[in-house]
Amino acid sequence: MVSLEDLQKVFRGEVKISEPLSQHTWLKIGGPADYYLKPSDREDIINIVKFFREREFPYMIIGRGSNLLVHDEGFRGAMINLEYVLTDIRLEGDDVIVAAGVWISTFVEFCVQHGLAGTEMLAGIPGTIGGAIRMNAGAYGGEISDHLIEVEAIRDSKVARVKKEDAGFAYRESSFTNDVVLSARFRFPKKDKEDLVRVRRELLIKRNAAQPVNFPNTGSIFKNPDEAGKFAAKLIDSCGLKGKRIGGAMISDLHANFIVNVENASAKDVFELMVTMRNEVYKRYGVLLEHEVQLVGFSREEVSMLQDVPSEING
Ligand SMILES: Cc1cc2nc3c(=O)[nH]c(=O)nc-3n(C[C@H](O)[C@H](O)[C@H](O)COP(=O)(O)OP(=O)(O)OC[C@H]3O[C@@H](n4cnc5c(N)ncnc54)[C@H](O)[C@@H]3O)c2cc1C
Repeated sequence: MVSLEDLQKVFRGEVKISEPLSQHTWLKIGGPADYYLKPSDREDIINIVKFFREREFPYMIIGRGSNLLVHDEGFRGAMINLEYVLTDIRLEGDDVIVAAGVWISTFVEFCVQHGLAGTEMLAGIPGTIGGAIRMNAGAYGGEISDHLIEVEAIRDSKVARVKKEDAGFAYRESSFTNDVVLSARFRFPKKDKEDLVRVRRELLIKRNAAQPVNFPNTGSIFKNPDEAGKFAAKLIDSCGLKGKRIGGAMISDLHANFIVNVENASAKDVFELMVTMRNEVYKRYGVLLEHEVQLVGFSREEVSMLQDVPSEING
């Protein structure tokens, strides 16, 4: 364990102890993190990451917590939030340079207002640029990596520039799993601003009609399977699972790939629904769904329940 005294020798930002992560996740679920850190500047982030790595103390970056399911027992380690420290966004020639803590909505607005095309489909995705790059967030046929040039990240305790072609981008994947994204450089094609405003509005209307916006949730639970034409939501729906409830968590009756926190749900409630969805889809279609939502604080045995072939079905 790292002591608070040692931590504060290198860290100048705000430190909270045993901070309930339910206050920082979109789902409003999650037990405490041993430390919850709000760095004061970029240097603070670099120093604290180096400090934790040298001591092999577990740490993790949290953006807006919109893609996280945090265990009821919380996270044994430090959660580092970059949302209020890395907030710069600017033009450099034709390029947009955006820091990791900037909200996706701010980024989209900036690009649309400058007549830069290629972010409109991201409107309505809650999160930070760092989280979006780590997850290669996308929607309606586009991904955040589409117009990306390079990412600046802490990799192995050093600040590195990672070119797009070396960033391992795939469907909801990147190579930044163990890194800290600090900023990114994008180059977008130019387009008429009014067109961009219209497309963004249309996509937002479509999104809000299709997703359960009235309850806390964490976006799509599972990725769509590789096979063309197969959608996780359709598979789950056709197993008759819409509206199924465990404790305070429910499979949305609007979108079968969403779990909503309808009444003080626990992480256990959500997790059990995830296992049910995956097992039922496997039983009926032989398709193993892969979870998109990031599990935090879960044991290896628990995670394996969402990775292995379900045993009672496998025989
Ligand atoms: C209502 C709703 C709709 C959604 N719709 C979509 C959608 O259409 N498409 C889509 O792709 N996603 C969607 N999501 C999921 C989520 O919003 C995105 O994955 C988003 O990019 C997560 O950003 P975040 O900052 O909240 O990351 P968090 O949820 O805080 O973290 C997610 C992962 O990214 C890592 N991370 C965060 N910041 C950094 C950083 N700076 N450096 C390194 N790693 C980092 C975390 O450690 C974690 O592993 C939706 C979620 C909700 C709640």
